[in-house]
Amino acid sequence: MKRCISLLILVSIGLQTGGWGFYAHRLINQYAVFLLPPEMLLLYKPHIRFLTDHAVDPDQRRYAVPAEGPRHYIDIDRYGHYPYDSLPRTWKEAVARYTADTLLKYGIVPWWIQTMLHRLTTAFAQKDLARILKLSAEIGHYIADAHVPLHACSNHNGQYTNQHGIHGFWESRIPELLAEKEWDFFIGKADYIANPLQFTWARVLESAAAADSVLLLEKELNAHFPPDKKYAFEERNGTLVRQYSTDYSLAYNRLLNNMIERRMQQSVYAVACFWYTAWVNAGQPDLKTLSNTTFNEAMLQAFEALHQWWMSGKTTAKTCE
Ligand SMILES: [Zn+2]
Repeated sequence: MKRCISLLILVSIGLQTGGWGFYAHRLINQYAVFLLPPEMLLLYKPHIRFLTDHAVDPDQRRYAVPAEGPRHYIDIDRYGHYPYDSLPRTWKEAVARYTADTLLKYGIVPWWIQTMLHRLTTAFAQKDLARILKLSAEIGHYIADAHVPLHACSNHNGQYTNQHGIHGFWESRIPELLAEKEWDFFIGKADYIANPLQFTWARVLESAAAADSVLLLEKELNAHFPPDKKYAFEERNGTLVRQYSTDYSLAYNRLLNNMIERRMQQSVYAVACFWYTAWVNAGQPDLKTLSNTTFNEAMLQAFEALHQWWMSGKTTAKTCE
């Protein structure tokens, strides 16, 4: 039993280090649907289950596909100090200055979102339903990741400051505790983004600027909080796991002054804006007329293979690194 519990803890921590936790990623895509104009809602609403289920595909893929990892973050502090002016904002200029190898080493999320936006726009122009849905689900993931402060910081899991686990604490534990119970996601409607790259960089710089608070405030809390009350065995998805206690989590959330709620709201808004922008840039195709309403065989097989691999538990060894 003991071994079983520790394995569950490791798995749960491992799952949490991939961006927003699975729970939050799904919720972000789900809520983003309701910010869309009616012309898009008529397609996205009936497929909301697909968009939420597949919000986590990029994280699942990163353990199987080496190229996947750097698409989820940027260790921007490797490039000097805020606002990191030495790092060119376009891929071409950044490669010219630092080489592609260096960029890949420290993460490429701002540029990868551009690639995904281009692919999604093409899918809309071709009225390819399967690709529209798959790419919508996945771009939502990367956009949401760009909003996470520790995805714009080399000390991404507090490994340099003895705060191991803070990544999942911020992006999984607290949203699971509060998102549906207390946070507000009625946040207006999607807007057209005239300059998506600039938009993404603004969010990434906000994330980078917030990373210090995320780390320092937890350190401060840890120094004053009774050590025996920091962790607790609590139920998580029907299983008993040791995790940050509710009291510790709520105290941290108070110190952060609702930063996580704000970043999650901004993620929802940004995801909807990117979906909408891709559709507009594709010429606002009439989505009612989409005929190929089912996935082709190859895509079904790819989804199934990913699912099977995930269910087989082969992720455990990797996630325990
Ligand atoms: Zn991710």
